[in-house]
Amino acid sequence: MAHEADSMEKLWHNYAGVFRGFDDLTLARWMSQTLSQLHGKLWRMSHPLVGAYRLAAMVAHDRQIWHQRMVAIPPDFPPAECCRAPLLPMITRDVLESGLICLHCNGTAVSFEQITDRDAAEALAGWAEEYSTTHSVAHWDDGRRGTHENFDQAFENAATESERLLSHMGQDLAPPFVEHYPSIVWEDQDECLQVRPEDIAM
Ligand SMILES: [Zn+2]
Repeated sequence: MAHEADSMEKLWHNYAGVFRGFDDLTLARWMSQTLSQLHGKLWRMSHPLVGAYRLAAMVAHDRQIWHQRMVAIPPDFPPAECCRAPLLPMITRDVLESGLICLHCNGTAVSFEQITDRDAAEALAGWAEEYSTTHSVAHWDDGRRGTHENFDQAFENAATESERLLSHMGQDLAPPFVEHYPSIVWEDQDECLQVRPEDIAM
């Protein structure tokens, strides 16, 4: 699976070439324009527009585009505390430890404690705890796997449960966040359990 991650990274690096070919001003304009398309909605991470934006954000972060203030950030997007890029947070299964993740620097854009809607945060916390038990099956060590007569079956069950939980998060727990952030993304996959976006029913 490590090999798979490497090949994926290589592929994405390759795709990002289109943005590396943009000059700073063009890149800043493209991002600013795309941010306004992303505004006010909940997005799956796998959506191609989000994917393209993340690639641009990667290149922009390397070049510190938002510090150069070449283009005005769309007014609806306050700067993120982590890297001063426009606030575009993502909900992931690590929300308890890492809060909402910044799409620009992959740091913590909003810590769990800073989430203003406490009801939505608490619902997400309960979900994340349940999810982490399911997710941990992918990381069982050999001893733990051995005691299970059929690890394949346990893995399969965990993957099915992950699909259900991710669907619940995307459909019920993430939508309230749209009211509090300019735009919000949720991670609709679990690479460790081999759950792909198309496996998550919505
Ligand atoms: Zn950031």
